[in-house]
Amino acid sequence: MDFKNIIGNDSLRSLIGNHIKNKTLSHAYIIEGPKGSGKRTLAKEICKALMCESPSPDLPCGSCRSCKRIEEGYNTDIFVLTRGDKATIPVEEVRNMTATLGYYPDDGDCKVYIIEDADRMTPQAQNALLLSLEEPPSYVVFLLLTEDSTALLETVRSRAQRLKTEVFSPAFTAEWLKKQPAAAKASENAISSAATVSRGSLGLALSTLSSKSTKEASISADASRLVELLCTGSRAEAIVFASGIKYSRAEFEQFFDYAILAVRDILYAKYSSFTPAYYTDSSIPKELSSKLKMTKLTHIYDALICAKDDITRYNAQTYAVMTTLAASAL
Ligand SMILES: [Zn+2]
Repeated sequence: MDFKNIIGNDSLRSLIGNHIKNKTLSHAYIIEGPKGSGKRTLAKEICKALMCESPSPDLPCGSCRSCKRIEEGYNTDIFVLTRGDKATIPVEEVRNMTATLGYYPDDGDCKVYIIEDADRMTPQAQNALLLSLEEPPSYVVFLLLTEDSTALLETVRSRAQRLKTEVFSPAFTAEWLKKQPAAAKASENAISSAATVSRGSLGLALSTLSSKSTKEASISADASRLVELLCTGSRAEAIVFASGIKYSRAEFEQFFDYAILAVRDILYAKYSSFTPAYYTDSSIPKELSSKLKMTKLTHIYDALICAKDDITRYNAQTYAVMTTLAASAL
């Protein structure tokens, strides 16, 4: 199998592996997936596979001179455009980049241009890229990394093939974590909470577990607690708990994402076969689900969505929103 460094993503691996071997490579690919889902790793592995010097049937070999140089970050035929700490990628940076397209590769047969957060290119920057995307020199491949390809101009999207990275379930993430050396001493609880807060990102799950990132875990714990209270607690308990939560707006956004996912799991648990997206196993959502009517669950779900919008979009006062949420959802 090609791309042994990539976990899961079987169809994507065989697709791109075949493109390289059959020389049917597209000029440009959009690599789409949520934060931490391995977009950069995939881009790096594609570079290795394109430039690998080994006759090995499984690409990339990972041990030839070229693969090692890419792993260490020494390869002048790979260009990476990032926005750094700026909000957008301006047109000048794209022009500077495309100005180098005409130079032949230094070393091998191809050059790869990676644009991270490609959807942050301004519309002018995307337009400046269009011509190059359409007819780049034969040795050039573009990899556009994005969390959301619909944020790219349609003209850009239509000139690139889309590769979507897989999002892993908390159960898969927990199993994978258990096999990692860094998790050898971790408790079952710590693994389960890291798997939950990472929302499908193996990289984030591992770093959460290794760094014992307590903020994410405590936001997730708060979200689980609120959902539990809204489902089965008393109104007074829910109000006291909800109104006592104090976060930044960004943290509230994450809090609501967790809570909404949790309620969705509980809703789906009404059906016999479902894979939880928030909980690590289906026992908690199944139990909560059995105690509640569908109408009540959808009511809680809607109330959470409204509260999230009020806080993250409309800048409403968080204390008031949280109190109203607890009072109205019950
Ligand atoms: Zn190699």
